Amino acid sequence: MTDIVRPAPRPMPRAEVMQISAYVSGESKIEGVNRIIKLSSNEGAFGPPPSAQAAFVKVASEMHRYPDGGSNALRRALGERFGLDPERIVCGTGSDELIQHICHIYAGPGTDILMTMHGFSMYQISGTYSGARVIKVPEKNLCTDVDALIANVTPETRVVFIANPNNPTGSLLPQSEIERLRAGLPDDVLLVLDAAYSEYVDDPDYDAGAKLVDAGGENTIMLRTFSKVFGMGGMRVGWMYAPAKVIDAMNRVRGVFNVNIAAQHAAVAALAEPGWVETSVAHNKTWREWLRAALEAVAIKTWPSVGNFFLADFESDARAKQANEYLKSRGIIVRGVAGYHLPTMLRITVGTEEECRLVAAALADFQAGK
Ligand SMILES: *Cc1c(COP(=O)(O)O)cnc(C)c1O
Repeated sequence: MTDIVRPAPRPMPRAEVMQISAYVSGESKIEGVNRIIKLSSNEGAFGPPPSAQAAFVKVASEMHRYPDGGSNALRRALGERFGLDPERIVCGTGSDELIQHICHIYAGPGTDILMTMHGFSMYQISGTYSGARVIKVPEKNLCTDVDALIANVTPETRVVFIANPNNPTGSLLPQSEIERLRAGLPDDVLLVLDAAYSEYVDDPDYDAGAKLVDAGGENTIMLRTFSKVFGMGGMRVGWMYAPAKVIDAMNRVRGVFNVNIAAQHAAVAALAEPGWVETSVAHNKTWREWLRAALEAVAIKTWPSVGNFFLADFESDARAKQANEYLKSRGIIVRGVAGYHLPTMLRITVGTEEECRLVAAALADFQAGK
C-alpha cells in the first residue's frame, strides 16, 4: 500500500470537468434596489398558472412521500394534451437533466457533439462533461446553417443539438430545413430538437419535433419544458418525446425520483389551466413587437425573434455594457450574452405590458444620454 505512488496530493476532477465554464444564469438581484424587473431568464410574463400554484399548496402535506418515479399522471396528461403516446415520454428535472443524460448515453470520450455557434450553452456544458468534443458550427445571420452542420459531421459525430426556436438568438429554422438536416445526417446520429419555446411559434408549417420522432428513424428526440410559457422554471420540469429505444436507455440512467411530487402535481394542473398558453402567446406577440419597435424608434437595432425574448444590438461591446448598467440602475435586469459570443447585444425577455413600457422608457433615456 504505502509504496504505491499516487499521482496527485488530493482528489482530482477529470480534466474535462475543469474545461467547463459554469453556466451563468440570468441575474436576479441588484444591490440596493427593492423592486426588480427581471427580464433575464425568459420565465414567462405572467408567473405560474393559478391552478399550478393551488396544486403545489395542496400537495404540501404529502411531501414525506416519494414521488411517482415514472411521473405517470404527468405523462398521461402530456400524451392527451399533445396527442402523443405516454409510453414514449420521459419527464426530467427540467430538460437540462435530459440534455445531460443524452450526452452521457450517446456521446462521451472520443466522440463529437455538434451544436450551433450561438446555441444553448447547456449543450456545451453537458457535452464536455460527458467527455465528448463539442463543436460549435457557424450560423448564417444568427440562424442555424444546415449545410454547415452536415459539413461538420465526422465518423465520430454522435449527437446534434438544435434549439428551435433558438435561445438566445430567437431565430427559427423552417420545418423544411429541419427535415433537410435530418435527411443529411447519418442514421446513427441522434438529432435533438429542443423545443423549449415551441408554444410561441405561429408558423403553420412548424412542428416542435414529434413528426420527425414518429418518422421511424429511431434517431430524433423532441425536448420540451414547463419553464417558459408555463412559468414554472422553479419547479424544474421538462420532458422528452423519443423513440422506444431512447426511452429505454434514458429510464436506465435518469434520476429515479427525478421529478418531485410538487412539480408533478403542479405540471398536471398547469396543463389544465384554461387558456393559459393562448393568452400568454397572444400577449407575447403583441408586446415583443411593440418593444422591438420602441427600441428601433430610438435607433437600437433589434433582431427578429419568434420566442418570448429578443436580442437588442447596440453594435459595440462598450455600448451594450453601458446599456446593461443603465438598465440596472433603473432596477431592470436583462441578459448579457457576451458568453454566447454576442458581446454587442443584450437579450431581453418580454414581460408584462408595464415592464415592456419601463424597458422602452429606460432605453429611450439611455439613447438620449439622460
Ligand atoms: C430554458 C431552456 C431550456 C431549459 O429548460 P429547463 O426545463 O428549465 O431545464 C432548454 N433549452 C433551451 C433552449 C432553453 O432556453
